[in-house]
Amino acid sequence: MSNKILIVEDSRAFRNYLQQILGQAGYEIIAAENFSEAQAILNSQQDLLCAVLDYCLPDAQDGEIIDLLLSHQHKVIVLTAMFQEEIREQMLAKGVLDYLLKDSMASVSYLLPLIRRLTNNHNHKCLVVDDSMVVRHHVVQLLEHQYLQTLQAENGQQAIELIEQNPDITLVLTDHDMPTKDGITMIRELRQNFDKNQLAILGISGSDDHTMTARFLKAGANDFLYKPFNQEEFFCRIHQILDMKEATSELYRMANQDSLTGLWNRRFLFGQACGGCEKRNIAMLDIDFFKKVNDNYGHDGGDAALVMVANILKIYFPDDVVARFGGEEFCIQACGHYEEFVTRLEQMRQRVEKTPIPYQDEEIKITISIGVSTALDNLDQQIKVADDRLYQAKENGRNQTIYQ
Ligand code: GH3
Ligand code: MG
Ligand code: MG
Repeated sequence: MSNKILIVEDSRAFRNYLQQILGQAGYEIIAAENFSEAQAILNSQQDLLCAVLDYCLPDAQDGEIIDLLLSHQHKVIVLTAMFQEEIREQMLAKGVLDYLLKDSMASVSYLLPLIRRLTNNHNHKCLVVDDSMVVRHHVVQLLEHQYLQTLQAENGQQAIELIEQNPDITLVLTDHDMPTKDGITMIRELRQNFDKNQLAILGISGSDDHTMTARFLKAGANDFLYKPFNQEEFFCRIHQILDMKEATSELYRMANQDSLTGLWNRRFLFGQACGGCEKRNIAMLDIDFFKKVNDNYGHDGGDAALVMVANILKIYFPDDVVARFGGEEFCIQACGHYEEFVTRLEQMRQRVEKTPIPYQDEEIKITISIGVSTALDNLDQQIKVADDRLYQAKENGRNQTIYQ
């Protein structure tokens, strides 16, 4: 997906300001000060994320720049100095993404979140559930216009099946009255398996029943809209739902991930642990004489060693729960064949031993000790057994794996 934004704006101060805020956010900016310059740029630039356009330019005073960009199939955000209901309606009808009033520098504070939203949208897959093909197509068109991926279902039952087949669906937009299974029943069923953060749901219904909003929300919808809806309101709600979903995911990540190594933390391990299936294996790992690494190379050298061990763990156990348990201790939870797990741990231990860590002009060499346990009902107990074996490995001279 392109990272380029075309800005067409005749006021130099405003252009520089936009260029600065969007440039700082990591976007590549192409700036033009009038219609003809923009026209020349468009001949060589095909891939734009979007264009931010001043409605009135010295050589095109009536919004001609908007038609030019739309005719090249670009996504358009309009900046306008004056608010006129008529012009606003015209612009939205033409298919611009949004318009912003340019009455002060601060008024464009909405621009960056809007563009970030567009950038993130292509990560979201939306399922549109409605028995009317016309409505489905209309909604799909609106969503795709904002770079959202879409799927369609004709009723609640079909939607549930599609969600099972496509676990990467993040947002469901659903009607209520549908044959086979209605929207509210579908939401109740979905909520048994997916919480509001895993799967966001927007109810949309044309019913004149005024209890509809409450019924949808109580069944577990994140939000609700009556049909026919105002397009701007529709996008505001979608943006809000997706912003909220991303913020919650980010909070979850921050609460459960170790910031130095990117591994899961202890909290995640206990929250996420498999329910003690017969094949749950646990390994406790500890870096040998790590205090000496800190003493010899400083705390930053120690951190580099921790990151290296974490990276090797990720490579050797990509499908398992790998957590930083504490300072220089790690824990792996893996379900499967015990001997295979131990063999892999041994390979990983040898790899750590053979991989010097470049730090400044030196090389840090480390080893790790490992204790392993399998198949105990209680996770705490299983960790304790592995920890005792880790202690044994230390006693036996370190740099080894003890698993029985
Ligand atoms: P042993 O072989 O018995 O495990 O000896 P050790 O020196 O590795 O063990 P000890 O538990 O005595 O020391 C662990 C050290 O790890 C102490 C602590 O300062 C250091 N440490 C803990 N967390 C971090 C961290 O995030 N970064 C760095 N650089 N050091 C850390
Ligand atoms: Mg240690
Ligand atoms: Mg330790």
